Amino acid sequence: MQNRVGIIGAMDVEVKTLKSLLTESSEKVLMGLTFVQGKLDGTDVIIVQSGIGKVNAALCTQLLILEFKVTHIINTGIAGAMAHGLKVLDFVVSTDALYHDMDVTGFGYKVTQIPQMECSDFPADKAMIAAAKEAFDSLKEAQGHSLVAGRIASGDQFVSSKTVKESIRAACDPACVEMEGAAIAHAAYLNKTPFVIIRCMSDMADDSGESTYDFNEETAANLSAALVRSIVGKIQ
Ligand code: SAH
Repeated sequence: MQNRVGIIGAMDVEVKTLKSLLTESSEKVLMGLTFVQGKLDGTDVIIVQSGIGKVNAALCTQLLILEFKVTHIINTGIAGAMAHGLKVLDFVVSTDALYHDMDVTGFGYKVTQIPQMECSDFPADKAMIAAAKEAFDSLKEAQGHSLVAGRIASGDQFVSSKTVKESIRAACDPACVEMEGAAIAHAAYLNKTPFVIIRCMSDMADDSGESTYDFNEETAANLSAALVRSIVGKIQ
């Protein structure tokens, strides 16, 4: 079967460049979301802006799977750096994704654990992770930046305080923090659809968060999109 890759970004800045590269494109609007179908360097893709936050991301993922029958999902975007040594404009490719704001510890669950569910830490597809690493090694836009393969933690919160950053680190030690990836991973997991999350760091998720973010938003979003572009044709 030929691949049909769904590409999700939360914000326009994360998807507009990829959309502009599509050939044979057409649009369909569902639930207020504009799904743009077309070919990206010869591969069938559907690109969509989900909106910010976990519920927007999960609903969008479910539509991509049910209505557009995607074979793979890539989440592209920006994030706050958490891993030691990771800097602004470095990259993270997900090994797994979870919710840092899931807390039912009052009933004896581990922080981040989803009650009554067999999985709380959704594993990304190994072949897609490998494709990301291979694409990164030959991406000229990424020269001078590093790529870390690691856990991504998502929550409905912009992390811009050292105290919150440290408590998330203590809870689940992620490589980066953002607001959609784990919800996309969750929906993909329930549908048995392979996924990977690619994020380029816009900020350090610390007290300098908003200003660093504003300065780097567009550059980081475009770097992530450039890596996603070169992964799409490498997925087996
Ligand atoms: N600037 C936007 C809001 C952006 S919210 C506005 O004014 O409307 C932050 C977005 O970037 C989310 O989609 C999230 O996934 C990602 N992100 C980047 N850095 C983050 C951080 N430190 N904490 C949480 N999300 C972050």
